[in-house]
Amino acid sequence: MTERKINICDECESEYYKDSSKMDALCPHCAFILYGYENCSHKFEKGRCIKCFWNGKTSLYINDLLKDENMKKKKSISVGFNEEDLPYLPIKKDTHLTFKISEDKKCVEIIGNKKGLRLMAKALLGMAETERTDGYHIHIDDLYRINKDNKEFIIRKK
Ligand SMILES: [Zn+2]
Ligand SMILES: [Zn+2]
Repeated sequence: MTERKINICDECESEYYKDSSKMDALCPHCAFILYGYENCSHKFEKGRCIKCFWNGKTSLYINDLLKDENMKKKKSISVGFNEEDLPYLPIKKDTHLTFKISEDKKCVEIIGNKKGLRLMAKALLGMAETERTDGYHIHIDDLYRINKDNKEFIIRKK
């Protein structure tokens, strides 16, 4: 096996195989994040990628960049309230939402399509933000008949 030349990345300061990167002074990972060059499909063994020799550490600068990227991907959900401070939960066609409870009754699995999960999220957010203290709670299914299993979600703030 021929020796591969090892460089130090200017950005993350990790060693990397020179021939694994398209850039002179950057490991394939940093070259990918900063300049869009093709990344190595890293395969880590004992703390280093066996393909490019990168040590898996990123610079603070790159960490911040990635954090910003993730922020951009953030999706928001908002809920409106009527004059009685009840959350407004419009139902859309083909909303599906149901749940399963494990046999030992220790796990609840919530299953829904996008509309169903968003409805659930809005119901939860609506309950979290309501000022009502009169025992008001939401029966999602009762209101909307959105699962055929005859199951019922109740959301209550306490
Ligand atoms: Zn690097
Ligand atoms: Zn790699």
